[in-house]
Amino acid sequence: MTRALITGVTGQDGSYLAELLVGKGYDVSGLVRRLSTPNLSNLGAVRGRVAVLDGDLLDQSSLDHAVRVAQPDEIYNLAAQSFVGTSWQQPVLTSEVTGLGALRVLEAARRFADGARVYQAGSSEMFGNSPAPQDESTPFLPRSPYGVAKLAAFHFARTYRESYGMFVANGILFNHESPRRGEEFVTRKVAAWAARVARGERPVLRLGNPDARRDWGYAPEYVELMWRALQHDRPDDFVGATGETHSVLEFVSEAMSVAGCTGPVEWGSPEVARPADVFDLRGDASKARRELGWEPQTRFRGLVGIMVRAEISRPY
Ligand code: GDP
Repeated sequence: MTRALITGVTGQDGSYLAELLVGKGYDVSGLVRRLSTPNLSNLGAVRGRVAVLDGDLLDQSSLDHAVRVAQPDEIYNLAAQSFVGTSWQQPVLTSEVTGLGALRVLEAARRFADGARVYQAGSSEMFGNSPAPQDESTPFLPRSPYGVAKLAAFHFARTYRESYGMFVANGILFNHESPRRGEEFVTRKVAAWAARVARGERPVLRLGNPDARRDWGYAPEYVELMWRALQHDRPDDFVGATGETHSVLEFVSEAMSVAGCTGPVEWGSPEVARPADVFDLRGDASKARRELGWEPQTRFRGLVGIMVRAEISRPY
């Protein structure tokens, strides 16, 4: 039985990946940060089939312990402070968790999981405003503390691959969303608002920049890329993206059309303003298609439909 250890297993990607790996017959362990009110809700479908290990990316000893207990063949480092907006309020914490945390995972793997394959979750945020379309050869120009921290993690991963001959793969995934996305991300926020409007309420949707463009895909399809990257014949870096880009404004209009109603929207809200933003992300995932046979199926309209309908049927 192949053994996997997933950090960030309670998050959107971690929980979809756990489902994928359990479905493939893996023995799955997941690292969970202790909270006084545990949040294991995303693990509903695989609860009891994932061994939960307490740990924190800030604590090397907890990672060492988790790796020694789980004895993984594959390690997926998905844990992070993953919200760009918060990375300006908590830049040091973001760097500690998202940047140095990845280094700690690599160290635990190097010392205690000989031969394990490691997936490091990189982000399109590392490209910043490098012109679209972005692929594996596009220069990185991060624009947020989050982007810088993810880029540090990317280079730690590459360096461990080259220094120690470890099998370490970086995914460079563009935005990928689902009903399990954190509520502060724009897609989930808009979908939740559209569902309230569909119920006859009149909440005001307060948003920031309408013109920011993102390459939004569907998260369950992106965890498949992570797995494929570790089954490949050599460790490498892969962009995962749909190749389409749409603005926040388009997302809002499509959400209203799925919900079948319109509601009040205010743009330029200071609550969500960022000191710097990334304007146009559109990935070129040709390499993943060619080398991993990976191709996302869900396009923009399908994704908005999934998200808005999930919010409409969510108990409130
Ligand atoms: P990100 O790409 O990881 O930063 O994902 P987000 O969903 O947080 O943001 C995507 C884009 O939407 C960014 O360019 C934001 O500036 C823009 N945006 C506009 N209004 C909002 C908002 O109210 N909340 C968030 N999170 N983003 C917004």
